[in-house]
Amino acid sequence: MRTDRRTFLKDVAGAAGLMFVGCGVAGVGAQSAPRAGVTRRPLVVKGRRITTVDIHAHCAVPQANELLRQSAPTTAAQGSLLALDGEPLAQRLAAMDAQGIDIAVLSINPNWYDVDRDVAAKVISVQNEALAAFCAAHADRFAAFASVALQFPDLAAHQLEEGIRKLGLRGAAIGGSVAGAELADAKFHPFWAKAEELGAVVFIHPQATGSAALNNRLRGNGLLGNVIGNPLETTIALSHLIFEGTLDRFPGLKICAAHGGGYLPSYMSRSDHGCQTFPAQCAPGVPKLKPTEYVKRMYYDSLVFTPEALRHLVAEVGASHVVMGTDYPYPWVDAPVDHVLATPLLSDADREAILGGTARTLLGLRTA
Ligand SMILES: [Zn+2]
Repeated sequence: MRTDRRTFLKDVAGAAGLMFVGCGVAGVGAQSAPRAGVTRRPLVVKGRRITTVDIHAHCAVPQANELLRQSAPTTAAQGSLLALDGEPLAQRLAAMDAQGIDIAVLSINPNWYDVDRDVAAKVISVQNEALAAFCAAHADRFAAFASVALQFPDLAAHQLEEGIRKLGLRGAAIGGSVAGAELADAKFHPFWAKAEELGAVVFIHPQATGSAALNNRLRGNGLLGNVIGNPLETTIALSHLIFEGTLDRFPGLKICAAHGGGYLPSYMSRSDHGCQTFPAQCAPGVPKLKPTEYVKRMYYDSLVFTPEALRHLVAEVGASHVVMGTDYPYPWVDAPVDHVLATPLLSDADREAILGGTARTLLGLRTA
């Protein structure tokens, strides 16, 4: 087995083993290439060089997509991922250098939640081995979250443990729901238990998977399925984890939500007032604490666009619970570091924590 793995790692260790893609926005090109000659931009705070970390950076493994295509040609979600353009490693490194990103934490958006167990096991094995090989070959610039077949929670728990303990991956990336099931569904408890046991960060990235009625309302001009649908799915996913008691059952979970946690942190006090106003509609003692207490325990990326929005996110959850995210390669933001530096009322320690310190601690990444 060891020999086989070494051979496999050798095969996929080149740049061709991974391709860098966006997160489900079919038809939109990758972030434009930075101009030639851009050099790495070291970030210095109070005279000290700090290591910046982007916790929200996409990629895909072509071999895994081919497995999905061969095994489940009708899988709905795979088309958008396959349709996206790849990107050479050199271009990505140049973009990271231009943006001041030292380490990108790669994740793969799940497009395998509706395939059977054998296919899912193969897809995840190929992906996680490829991620591990790539990160081992570029350890100074990349880390990665494991992918897991969450539709089979026991298998996902095993894949998470193997990804962390054997492959050196840094946690898991999952969707905001799993083939229509909420992450708070009791069937996922084995996965949450393993994540808690391992101290693994679970990065939740939405994929607009609303009901037919909601999806119909999000049609039309303006990309509303993404602009509204994605943060809404995150908001729903996190809210169920709170209100169904999942975060009480697994208090040690380290959850990090994309896109600033969707709408939840910006309007979280409504969650406290719901059960106060209509107690008959809430189970006694669930959750044990005020909902906002759980919001403050989770982590969020900084992808909220304006300094005022980031200031508010920090005011609600604390600077120590916000980590930088770019959504690379999609050009939602072009200066993610500057965004943090421009946010008012942050101390230098806050800025360093958001730009990389907290992520390095959470993920066990080395410092510069
Ligand atoms: Zn994304």
